[in-house]
Amino acid sequence: MPTLVMKFGGTSVANLDRIRRAAKRVGVEVAKGYDVIVIVSAMSGKTNELVGWVNETSPLYDAREYDAIVSSGENVTAGLMALTLQEMDVPARSWQGWQVPVKTTSAHASARIEEIPSENILAKFAEGMKVAVVAGFQGVSPEGRITTLGRGGSDTTAVAFAAAFEGERCDIYTDVDGVYTTDPRISDKARKLDKIAFEEMLELASLGAKVLQTRSVELAMRYKVKLRVLSSFEEQSDDAGTLVVDEEEIMENRPVSGVAYSRDEAKMTLISIADRPGIAAAIFGPLSEAGVNVDMIIQNIAEDGRTDMTFSCPVDQVGRAQKAMEDAKASGEINYRDLIADTEVAKVSAVGIGMRSQSGVAATMFKTLSDEGINIKVIATSEIKVSVLIDRKYMELAVQALHDAFELDKLT
Ligand code: ADP
Ligand code: ASP
Ligand code: MG
Repeated sequence: MPTLVMKFGGTSVANLDRIRRAAKRVGVEVAKGYDVIVIVSAMSGKTNELVGWVNETSPLYDAREYDAIVSSGENVTAGLMALTLQEMDVPARSWQGWQVPVKTTSAHASARIEEIPSENILAKFAEGMKVAVVAGFQGVSPEGRITTLGRGGSDTTAVAFAAAFEGERCDIYTDVDGVYTTDPRISDKARKLDKIAFEEMLELASLGAKVLQTRSVELAMRYKVKLRVLSSFEEQSDDAGTLVVDEEEIMENRPVSGVAYSRDEAKMTLISIADRPGIAAAIFGPLSEAGVNVDMIIQNIAEDGRTDMTFSCPVDQVGRAQKAMEDAKASGEINYRDLIADTEVAKVSAVGIGMRSQSGVAATMFKTLSDEGINIKVIATSEIKVSVLIDRKYMELAVQALHDAFELDKLT
């Protein structure tokens, strides 16, 4: 039997009615002759609630217990989905990560999947089970502890199962009907794309478009998983939604395919550091050891042997970054006059594989922001993206203005 992987996100399993609706979709695929692996998220809002409880109980929590707690939301929906299918006379059972087992690294809260042995589930399919409902987002470490894969990680569970079981396709059911030119919640001019290239989806996801977790796109690219994003709220045909495809399958010659944003950024500036070999290592080594995910970096021109260094990181890591820098200063590894944290910034990015062959995207972006009176604080570019850091209060305006400037409302 061919295998199909279907993943339902939080809003698609938000209550018993939605679970019933999702189960019906699963029933349609079972009727077509598929063995189905269903990956479920926790009910929407549940994971946030669990994270909140952890933080309230223990601000500097033990990450192993964080994982034990925040993984539990998925256990509930997996069981409920299996029961709902059984009520529809579809032979189904639930599996928690450790039961499969989904073997991961021991990097708690951001573990990577290392292996998914298929024997246990295949044996059940051979006995007549039609649907394996698997709790997404979770796995088990070599030490036998429960791990989680980082927020949004059920997408990655789904793609990893599609790779391990050589699934015909991995369908990601969510609350929008595909990948759009920008977040449809920010711009009502956002257009749904029928196809998007892996490389573009990877950039959009890593630059903040949370419709797919970045790692899920990486895995799909590496294992050639046919990945589709579609809505769980509408009746779906076989060509609905957005397919993530190889670059060669995109015919249009568009410079920009999408605009992404990341709201919760911070900009940190170390004032007056020594301009000497090894200074970057002395700053970014301790930051990395403290678990700070540094994104953009700029070093100013030196005057009298001293300079300023600016970097960006997620806003919730500012405290950790400050502590790492203060400790490095106290131990004499670095010396700076002041550390300024700007916690009111956001990152807006334009992404497109067409940038490789068409110039002028950065210029259009800067002109558009300037016309709106938006000041650019930091710029970063790569082959297929241009990102800027701006004041958070202008984020939505910037996204909309760039969407207009690149005429993304004309894409399909
Ligand atoms: P789920 O709970 O199903 O995993 P998520 O909330 O993680 O859903 O992801 C879906 C959301 O991603 C959408 O509701 C939308 O607001 C947001 N999003 C951001 N950028 C995009 C984009 N370019 N295309 C589609 N959705 C996007
Ligand atoms: N429930 C987890 C989260 O909210 C995982 C997921 O839904 O993908 O991050
Ligand atoms: Mg998600």
